[in-house]
Amino acid sequence: MSNDRRYKRILLKLSGEMLRHGDGDGISAERLKQLSLEIVGVKKMGAEIGIVIGGGNILRGTAASEKGIDRVSADHMGMLATVINSLALQNALEREGLETRVMTAIAMEQLAEPYIRRRAIRHIERGRVVIFAGGTGNPYFSTDTAAALRAVEIQADVVLKGTKVDGVYEADPVKNPSAKMFDTLGYIDVLNKGLRVMDATAISLCMENSLPIVVFNMNGALNLQKILRGENVGTIVS
Ligand code: UDP
Repeated sequence: MSNDRRYKRILLKLSGEMLRHGDGDGISAERLKQLSLEIVGVKKMGAEIGIVIGGGNILRGTAASEKGIDRVSADHMGMLATVINSLALQNALEREGLETRVMTAIAMEQLAEPYIRRRAIRHIERGRVVIFAGGTGNPYFSTDTAAALRAVEIQADVVLKGTKVDGVYEADPVKNPSAKMFDTLGYIDVLNKGLRVMDATAISLCMENSLPIVVFNMNGALNLQKILRGENVGTIVS
């Protein structure tokens, strides 16, 4: 175990889309394996890990409500989608030999533990990777907010938002290839400029609790390990 880490306890936020491979299935076995290996890498460094995974590869509440489903029901469906993804990720992590627990914000004890903060911290202290499923358990919130909330609750040192791009850009880098990436940003800059880092509720919660956020490319060259070592990867919001 190395002791040159910048962060010890991390909350990793992955969007549901991170599980999709190209235009293929919503949940790709190949993607699950890749993500799991990255997580194993930081676990071996001694990191304490909590994970929140979104559900956007299966269903988003806003999109479903635009199709005529009542918004609260649509959000309940979205939260259930995060449970499906969490169970898939749990399985993939256990295949790589990690000990894990899924804890849900909505009780469904036949398939996962209910979220109890003290118990979650105890699992993490014992070296288990804890996956927080079901978002916050409330409609009208996002899994970004769930990630910020759980991070504050378990006293994580940082929220690591793994994405498909290298960090936060001044404009969409796909549409505008010359768009500049920020190395650092203040919470207020994110809110004032309306940058798409995390939603405003999540940013505010991090700001109030002085919890840094690192937005980074989860698909790139052992980035997660580099961040744990203290290398400057992605965009740091603090
Ligand atoms: N959701 C919710 N409350 C929460 C978290 C999530 O109602 O606390 C619902 C919401 O409908 C959301 C969906 O679950 O669209 C999936 O989560 P999210 O969109 O955050 O997933 P991601 O974009 O990260 O894949």
